[in-house]
Amino acid sequence: EIYPLSLHDALPICMAAANFPTNTLCLSAHSLAGESLGTLVINLTLLLLSLTLSTSHLDVRRRLAISLQAANDKLQSANEELQKRALRDPLTGLPNRVLFEDRLALIAAHKARVQHGGVAADRKLAVLFVDLDAFKPVNDSYGHAAGDQLLVQVASRLRRAARGCDTVARLGGDEFVLLLDDLSSAEDGERLAQRILQTLTTPFQVLGHEVQISASIGIAIYPDHGDADTLLVHADAAMYAAKHAGKAGYSMFEPHMNADARERLSLQNDLRHAITLSQLALHYQPKIDGIHGQMIGVEALLRWRHPERGFISPAVFIPIAERSGLIKSIGDWVIEEAYQQMHAWARDGLRMSVAINLSPLQLREVELVTRIDQTLAKNHLDPSQLLCEITESVAMDDIQATQQVFDGLEQIGVFLSIDDFGTGYSSLSFLRQLPARQLKIDRGFVVDLETNADARAVVDAVIHLAHALDLRVVAEGVETEGQYDILRRLGCDEMQGYWFAPPMPANQLLEWVMKHQPASATRLPPAEPCVRTPLYVIDGEVLPA
Ligand code: C2E
Ligand code: MG
Ligand code: MG
Repeated sequence: EIYPLSLHDALPICMAAANFPTNTLCLSAHSLAGESLGTLVINLTLLLLSLTLSTSHLDVRRRLAISLQAANDKLQSANEELQKRALRDPLTGLPNRVLFEDRLALIAAHKARVQHGGVAADRKLAVLFVDLDAFKPVNDSYGHAAGDQLLVQVASRLRRAARGCDTVARLGGDEFVLLLDDLSSAEDGERLAQRILQTLTTPFQVLGHEVQISASIGIAIYPDHGDADTLLVHADAAMYAAKHAGKAGYSMFEPHMNADARERLSLQNDLRHAITLSQLALHYQPKIDGIHGQMIGVEALLRWRHPERGFISPAVFIPIAERSGLIKSIGDWVIEEAYQQMHAWARDGLRMSVAINLSPLQLREVELVTRIDQTLAKNHLDPSQLLCEITESVAMDDIQATQQVFDGLEQIGVFLSIDDFGTGYSSLSFLRQLPARQLKIDRGFVVDLETNADARAVVDAVIHLAHALDLRVVAEGVETEGQYDILRRLGCDEMQGYWFAPPMPANQLLEWVMKHQPASATRLPPAEPCVRTPLYVIDGEVLPA
């Protein structure tokens, strides 16, 4: 058992334990005794203590130094990482916009100084703005992981195409820029653009899919096309021109492109308010039956009445709306407006079939189908009264991304019309995969019909093949009686063009129908709006109801 004792009680017990037997011999009795022994012990103890103190002090300092070093290393690598993140694109590891603009400013400043100093400054600096064509469909069809992988591969091909001393950066999305210093001429920039286009032609392998992609490239040269502040903007404007010229190509900056870019920006700002300010309108152009000459429907064509610039063509503002994302709200407005008009015509006794133009962006939205379905139901319209026109190149480019919408439209009974046929590179049999009922031959072929035997042969072949695929053929842009006659002889089902009627506002169309086409609709409005005597057409003969 253990008994706890106080020091006072413990001391005598310990002394008792130190009792030495009677004959115990102390060998150090003469050399180490008394004071000298005490001094020795004290000195040794002090030495031992100071040694222990200094080693522990050293140890603490060593440990402190190690942990300080570790903290310092961590801080440094965190700093480096932060700096990397601030200056590099995390996906591709390429410099980002900040680093690119910094390098551009630095090199341009150096060039300006050399020029100022009178030293020969004939070496050029070029900025190449590279924007991938149809990158979004890849993302939409194969997922973002595939899109990311494609961007990484594109980045490495761009790096390989450029020289080691060039800067290749990613601005974001599918936009890349290259900064080429020390070029002997602007042609060097063009040569690199060609090399980039060439290197992109080899298909990419992403997540087990083979992907083909192209790019549009804009080139701006320093000092010819601007200074450090404007060079990137000008290369962007040139890229836009390359896209506009048909994609998969490059454009060298020209001053008018800058004006175009400013104009586009200003139009884009105004376009944002066009719907709320009621500046948009739909005009309707009749489609005429090729055999009987009767109207069988209309195409709705968008118009923008700009308060200062007057009428602006959809060919100008639709691409702006597409690039800025405004096309979605504009597209929704077109659908709603066309339906309200069809409903209004129906109230007036005119059952009208209407074709609307859809933009590629709308086709990638699955909600488009529900929106069309609900708007049809709300206005008590038959889905067969609606036709959706999509341009041939769109139908082909994005078939993976848009298939869902095509299937949905087919399910609700809305059919497609392939617009501007002949401008893309699709085979007719490929078109079979689409729920298309109609094919519109581009105006480019119709224009030459009277003068060019080749154009006649092409149109003839297209009509035959389309019929074999159960597609109705519409010829666009018929402007003369001669074209009309030829098309009729070739068996074209429907025609549309100024020879019959231009696009016109809804009220004018009603007047036009009354004047020129009283027998073209199944039920027509009365001449006097107050007296409702609808007419029916039976075997081409107009009869009162
Ligand atoms: P599109 O769908 O091929 O429309 C036919 C274009 O040819 C229309 O130009 C029409 O006014 C014009 N046109 C008709 N007949 C003739 C003719 O005999 N001769 C000539 N030279 N031209 C004729 P518009 O209205 O300027 O539209 C241009 C394009 O804008 C349309 O081409 C269509 O792709 C697009 N667009 C029009 N409205 C819309 C819309 O609501 N949404 C979308 N996404 N695009 C639209
Ligand atoms: Mg059209
Ligand atoms: Mg067309």
